[in-house]
Amino acid sequence: QPRSLEPDLESTKTRLESLDKAHLWHPFTQMQGWQRSQPLIIERAEGCYLYDLEGRRYLDGVSSLWVTTHGHRTPELDAAIRHQLDRVAHTTLLGLTHAPAIELAAKLVQLAPPGLTRVFYSDAGSTAVEVALKIAFQYWRQRPDPRPRKTKFVHLRESYHGDTVGAVSVGGIELFHEIYRPLLFEALTAPEPHCYRCPLKLERPTCGMACAEELGRVLADQADDIAAVIIEPIMMGAAGMLAQPEGYVRRVRELCTQHDVLLICDEVATGFGRTGWMFACEAEGIAPDLLCIAKGLTGGYLPLAATLATETIYAAFLGEAGDFKTFFHGHTYTGNPLACAAALANLALFEQNNTLQHVRAIANYLAEQMDRLRPLRLVGDIRQRGLMVGIELVADRATRTPFPPEQLVGYHVTNRCRDYGVLLRPLGNVIVLMPPLAVSTAQIDELIDALQTVLTEIEPELLT
Ligand code: PMP
Repeated sequence: QPRSLEPDLESTKTRLESLDKAHLWHPFTQMQGWQRSQPLIIERAEGCYLYDLEGRRYLDGVSSLWVTTHGHRTPELDAAIRHQLDRVAHTTLLGLTHAPAIELAAKLVQLAPPGLTRVFYSDAGSTAVEVALKIAFQYWRQRPDPRPRKTKFVHLRESYHGDTVGAVSVGGIELFHEIYRPLLFEALTAPEPHCYRCPLKLERPTCGMACAEELGRVLADQADDIAAVIIEPIMMGAAGMLAQPEGYVRRVRELCTQHDVLLICDEVATGFGRTGWMFACEAEGIAPDLLCIAKGLTGGYLPLAATLATETIYAAFLGEAGDFKTFFHGHTYTGNPLACAAALANLALFEQNNTLQHVRAIANYLAEQMDRLRPLRLVGDIRQRGLMVGIELVADRATRTPFPPEQLVGYHVTNRCRDYGVLLRPLGNVIVLMPPLAVSTAQIDELIDALQTVLTEIEPELLT
């Protein structure tokens, strides 16, 4: 239960709220609605919980924004950042280098799927994608046998790869992307592998994974013009937690190799243990040519991202003496030492705590607990890969009819979960569950208890 606010706390809250509404423009937020809402002001965090100004505790059901690994205020991560702070908080990688960036690059190469030997840092998932697109484009021009016509990118129709202009160009979520279309470069598309709502109106397993074969046809027809295919392996996150059928990623890898097209895997969401694998590519035993990572890299502490590349790609940027084959890219805070130190401590804890083993066990427990939600008529589909989950709510289960977007069903459900001490953020009608990797069975109970209560309460209001 919330404490009643001390008078000075009350005035702090009022002041922050009014300054927020006067000046802060929130990301991905309809600001008219925000102006009318009562903002939740987070003051501190501990483990898997966030606390508001009044000291009210919330289970962090989405890891802030899908980033937290070992929990908030993990002592080892706090200490690593403090240690680095006593040395240097920031220095550039343009013309200089530093130990945390070097050590981390070596560690990432060791952990990544085989063949990815070069690490290019940036500072967000979107920039990791921009870097991959620019590298892929430039690679074909600078190879010993240049193929300058290979300039196009293929993405899946419902994909999301970030918010910068290049990343939006390879995105397909109508709500986020359509308005910017005239600003973007044109890309080729293939149907997303989404078995609950198959874009080709087929069914597993008789479909023969026709979605992958359609991608194969795009590649066969235009391979001479295509630089790369970009996918999120095994599950598309922001698209609505679309779990891919087993073998899909392997087939995409085969097709890219067959048609001499690079494969970019965007593991911004799926990387760092989220799916029960260090990287989701491992679930299908494949390695991409370029790998984009961010989010969980620093355990959810500081902005850092990287794009990993193969030696073959890197070699095209080496050139001969006197050649300028530079990769013209580098953000001011690229490879920030504090962030690299946090990442090193984060990765050391994966080993110490057997985090991947924990994720697999707790994901099984979560799956069992989610069975409690299946009898609800509102629950259309539960899609899970490790601790990455989407629960799709539907107006009619038999016909899989979605709720109209303007009904804001996901928003209403997650808003009510706050009353039961659980913080969630939906994707349309899909309730996303992405707890910190260190979540316990008791906390999974808390999460599912709250969701079950809210869904049971709200079902009669939504389904008459
Ligand atoms: N790619 C994927 C798959 C993502 O999920 C996201 C962010 N949700 C991004 C790219 C963009 O990352 P950032 O928000 O750090 O720019």
